[in-house]
Amino acid sequence: MSKPSSPDMPAATTKNPGDEAAPGSEQTGENTCPVCNGSGRTADKAMCSNCGGSGIVIVTVGDA
Ligand SMILES: [Zn+2]
Repeated sequence: MSKPSSPDMPAATTKNPGDEAAPGSEQTGENTCPVCNGSGRTADKAMCSNCGGSGIVIVTVGDA
């Protein structure tokens, strides 16, 4: 049984709960995750769900 690889693996382009916008969107930038302070881990040493463990969230920048 061969199964085609599905593109559901988390990647750098995955939008995390803490992201204000999808990576690559216009007028967005990376910011340190306020939940884990950029460590990617919570105080319980669990993966930070806000940033997906990356320690970085995507925020909307610019004043438009
Ligand atoms: Zn985080």
